[in-house]
Amino acid sequence: MIKNDDFYTQIRIVSMNSSGTQMQAIIVLAELDAELDEIRQELGDLPDQVKAVEDDARRKSTDLDETQQQLDDIHESRSRAAIALQELQDREAKYTEQQFNVRNNREFDAITTELEAIKAERARIGEEQRSSGVLEENLRALLGERQRLLDDAKAYLNIKERELTDHSKEHGERHKHILAERREALSALQTSAVEEYERIRAFHADAAVAVRRNSCAGCFSKVPPQKVVEIRNHQDKIYFCEHCGRILYTTSE
Ligand SMILES: [Zn+2]
Repeated sequence: MIKNDDFYTQIRIVSMNSSGTQMQAIIVLAELDAELDEIRQELGDLPDQVKAVEDDARRKSTDLDETQQQLDDIHESRSRAAIALQELQDREAKYTEQQFNVRNNREFDAITTELEAIKAERARIGEEQRSSGVLEENLRALLGERQRLLDDAKAYLNIKERELTDHSKEHGERHKHILAERREALSALQTSAVEEYERIRAFHADAAVAVRRNSCAGCFSKVPPQKVVEIRNHQDKIYFCEHCGRILYTTSE
């Protein structure tokens, strides 16, 4: 820890050439960087969001296709069963007619056996049709539900995509403007000051902070009153918080 006595000897000071403008340039730079960070944060999240919604819509579309395919399969098997039933009915009618024209008991018994087999098959297919009818009904309900879910996901995707386009457009202009201002601020600063600033930026997004109520606004540790006066009176120098290393500046408040 730094004792008050040797405080001034411990302050790291970067001397500036053009008096008075260094601190102002740093403040401008910090404000612009905060805005740039905000843009990056907003846009950084939005494309991910759009992608997640896209994935979600794609999954819902696959679900819908799956249900549609199941329904198509059921339709096909149901129409095949209907044809089979019709054929059985025709055969049954034919055999029933033949039964009246048999020449002997053996022929009668043979036709009876055939008719019983046909009836059993008709009963089996009929039962299958009933259960597939229930399944079809359920699948229709599911199809409707999945269509609604897909429609909702697509609508949401539309909103998110528009948001991204709008943001990119709006930020595109703002971004260009900020970068131009940033270049201007950098040109007003000494290279050593820029290097210090960027070095701190690697640790703290807010590399330059105000002194508020005699405290560093970055880490809230106390800044000795003499140092606050010093900072205020030497706008051509750069002062650092001894605790967190951030650049300190004073405001008129
Ligand atoms: Zn600090």
